[in-house]
Amino acid sequence: MSGINIGILAVQGDVAENVSATRMAMDDLGVEGIVSEVKNPEQIADLDGLIIPGGESTVIGTLSLVNGSLKKIKEKIASGMPVLGTCAGMILLSKKIKDRVVGEMEQPLLDYLDIQIERNTFGRQKESFEADISLEKIGIPKFRGVFIRAPSVIDTGKNVEVLSKIDEKIVAVKQGNIIGTSFHPELTEDLSIHKYFVNLVQKKN
Ligand code: GLN
Repeated sequence: MSGINIGILAVQGDVAENVSATRMAMDDLGVEGIVSEVKNPEQIADLDGLIIPGGESTVIGTLSLVNGSLKKIKEKIASGMPVLGTCAGMILLSKKIKDRVVGEMEQPLLDYLDIQIERNTFGRQKESFEADISLEKIGIPKFRGVFIRAPSVIDTGKNVEVLSKIDEKIVAVKQGNIIGTSFHPELTEDLSIHKYFVNLVQKKN
């Protein structure tokens, strides 16, 4: 097969929106390859890049643990595969979490991003909002961030680059080939973040 193979983890959450944003980003960039929904370790094994969508991190994490996907994603991350995690996806990529209301909690994590997450920092569903943010370090000076039950990053290790903040709260990070955002780039028309990710996958390939 020629071209790159990007998978969207299809357990729960906004899977279709990520498939469509990634497909459009590849077409705009003239990058060849496929975008597919992946559910099990065998499909994940074949990927060059993975997007973990927003949704409910406890559900995505628990189901992925049970069917062995979590372990396979960890192996692929260790071998350098780029991953983009949006909202619940960023929570799953992290090492440590707490909830704004519930406090310290245990849930299955990929244990890679050296960050501590606070889940639901910006409130519940009804406190959803949009805001202009900036990700200068990856060449995206302006982006419309959609925040839905969004987490923030409350602590970062030394290998973590902070890509964006809103009101002093960290809302996007990068560590090696792994990117996490508190917001949902798949829910806006702007493809810049998906394009950045496609380029990262292509370079790695
Ligand atoms: N609050 C959700 C969680 O903790 C994430 C919300 C989202 O992905 N929009 O999993």
